[in-house]
Amino acid sequence: MGKPVVHGRCIIPNVATGGRLASATSRREDCEELDRADPLARFRDRFELPDGLIYLDGNSLGALPKASREAVQRVVAEDWGGGLIRSWNSAGWVDSAVRIGDKIGRLLGAAAGEVVVSDNTSVNLYKALSAAVRAQGARGTILTDEGNFPTDLYVIDAIGEQLGRPVRRVARERLFEALDSSVAVFSATHVDYRSGHMLDLPMLTRRAHEAGAVVVWDLCHSAGAVPVNLGAAGVDLAVGCTYKFLNGGPGSPAYLYARKDLHPKLDNPVPGWFGHRDTFAFGPSYAPAEDAARFQTGTPVILALAALEASIDLWLEADVEEIRQKSVALAELLINRVEARCPDGGLTLASPMNADVRGSHVSLRHEHAYGVVQALAARGVIGDWRPPDLVRLGLTPLYTRYRDVWDAVESLADVITSREHLDPKFAIRARVP
Ligand SMILES: *Cc1c(COP(=O)(O)O)cnc(C)c1O
Repeated sequence: MGKPVVHGRCIIPNVATGGRLASATSRREDCEELDRADPLARFRDRFELPDGLIYLDGNSLGALPKASREAVQRVVAEDWGGGLIRSWNSAGWVDSAVRIGDKIGRLLGAAAGEVVVSDNTSVNLYKALSAAVRAQGARGTILTDEGNFPTDLYVIDAIGEQLGRPVRRVARERLFEALDSSVAVFSATHVDYRSGHMLDLPMLTRRAHEAGAVVVWDLCHSAGAVPVNLGAAGVDLAVGCTYKFLNGGPGSPAYLYARKDLHPKLDNPVPGWFGHRDTFAFGPSYAPAEDAARFQTGTPVILALAALEASIDLWLEADVEEIRQKSVALAELLINRVEARCPDGGLTLASPMNADVRGSHVSLRHEHAYGVVQALAARGVIGDWRPPDLVRLGLTPLYTRYRDVWDAVESLADVITSREHLDPKFAIRARVP
């Protein structure tokens, strides 16, 4: 990580792009040609995208699928407005968390009954970790990546404290060797939110199992960004959010995956009535649902689920391998163009050069990253800043075009050469960076 992009060095394209990019993108017209040949091009029109805006922040908040807007309008007008309480049955509200969970499961290589939608990622992580630690009995430590996403670190610490288990944090590159028989539960984020670095999920899962540990993966920057096959990897538990690459909408509910054979051993620490085997028997004591549905808590958020389901239905039309190939190609184009256009701009690559260990965003380090991101936004190019010094640019193959990446780097080069990023008006910090 931290490799300079300043040498004008030729980047060898990943095999996934078939070497097309090296020669094919020295002109903007070449990008237009790639857009015309793009098998995913038909999806762009399925999204609301403001004219003239280049949106490279779909890794933080995905764009609005037109079908989601229509679904929310329909559910409000017809199901809530007209059907009222009857819609729990007639509009399928009562099963929506399980039904949509199963659809997300298809994106994750999970079987029916292994994924449920509920709460947010933090709460799902809490539930999954609590269940995992208690399933392991009174032994062992909880191991995590010291650079894990903040909410993960906070929740892991709290679980350790509440359930009386030591928590061990190690550097991301040392996770493999730290996975020994002292570990009861291993939890990490597959794709790092800062660098985009991607861990080897199958390999670490195997290693954890050899050590006798249960794994809990956070897939927030994975689902909809990189291929994930939880079933093939034998993953125990996983959680993830749906408002980033999956385009579920601001604050859309998260999901929890639990492998089928573990269900009888996993207890939800918030055993609400929607996780009950027979919610509407109104019984006096709790009995968990058969499958991952046991990880529901209370009443599902129907309006948010309507938006989410329309987006997931769209996702199920897309080919995950095509998504990955285009994601890699867009990232290589971006890196190549930054090298070509910003040779002395103080930018260094903070993401892995090797596409095999990179997710679907590219981070560039710059001393004045905050100002760079603000100046780009003023030019209609939306990325985001992550402290202290990262310009983060998300690549969402369903609606990002090759020409968008080209144009974004042209704007970046203009900002840097004109030193626009140093303008004091771009130093003003908003509450959400
Ligand atoms: C975005 C993100 C979250 C978000 O958690 P919420 O509780 O859904 O807000 C958690 N973990 C990671 C790794 C993330 O990237």
